[in-house]
Amino acid sequence: MMKKFILVPLFLFSVGVSFGADADGDVERYKSHIRYLADEKLEGRRPETKGGELTLEYILSQLGEMEGVSLLDGTGLQPVEFTTRDRFTSKDVSIKSYNVVARIDAPDSVNTDSSYVVIGAHWDHDGIQKVNGKKVFYPGADDNASGTAFVIELARSISQKRDSLKRDVVFVWFTSEELGLKGSRHYVKHSPYALDKCRAMINFDMVGRMNVKDRGITIRGLGTAHEAVDMFASLPNRDSLDLIWEFRGNGPTDYSSFYKVGIPSFSFSTRRNNVYHTPKDVAETINYDGMVMLDDYLAPLLQKMIYTSDFVLTFKEQ
Ligand SMILES: [Zn+2]
Repeated sequence: MMKKFILVPLFLFSVGVSFGADADGDVERYKSHIRYLADEKLEGRRPETKGGELTLEYILSQLGEMEGVSLLDGTGLQPVEFTTRDRFTSKDVSIKSYNVVARIDAPDSVNTDSSYVVIGAHWDHDGIQKVNGKKVFYPGADDNASGTAFVIELARSISQKRDSLKRDVVFVWFTSEELGLKGSRHYVKHSPYALDKCRAMINFDMVGRMNVKDRGITIRGLGTAHEAVDMFASLPNRDSLDLIWEFRGNGPTDYSSFYKVGIPSFSFSTRRNNVYHTPKDVAETINYDGMVMLDDYLAPLLQKMIYTSDFVLTFKEQ
């Protein structure tokens, strides 16, 4: 006992970083994003509702605080139009919603081939649904206020370190994932940036409910690039996360839209749980420390992908 007690502080002191600890104050920012996004005022973030509009405004206002961020077409909004079945009338209705798209560029002198990596998460959720004749609010704190918040904070930290970037980073908050990956499918079909310059896509969907005991994280898409297994195997796992690798590129979230157009694509999740797609998916049950652990785990991956010049992944079909 004694030995352990002495060794731990010494280790932290000598390295100067405490892994799994919230060195940058991320917990408070994750909390404030998720509390807002999963609040009743946002009506469960259904596309084409007032709550959906407030979600878009919120992401854009966060981006407005960051330096070195350029918004697509000056607004950051990519329109996405489609038809879907109305939840109350069961009739087909047309929906117009938006992806939020922003970009942080590496210095031109280092990124000579204009390559980039896409980091994404869907912002929408189920909204207010009719259940047994009653209107029921689905807050979607884990699904996917957590991923929305996580990508906002990744953008913030990358904007602060943009002088060290070796390639550009495109951030996309997708609309209408819950209605059938509409936002990400539209994005790859009408990509504002040349897709052959996209080296990889990383997606975050439901990253807020890490199990305290096993610290489980599922990483999907390990089979979408020849080098992916070696790359993930080389990452340190300082917080002893229980990592589950899934190889397929066509899992049920937005990374699969990128896989389908030939881009090595990965998705992170803290796994399904018993409040998945229920009104109980509320902000109070989010494991904020778990989000910090995921952030720690990702740091060396981002180091390879966006802060190193010679990063290459070769697409592999499943
Ligand atoms: Zn989701």
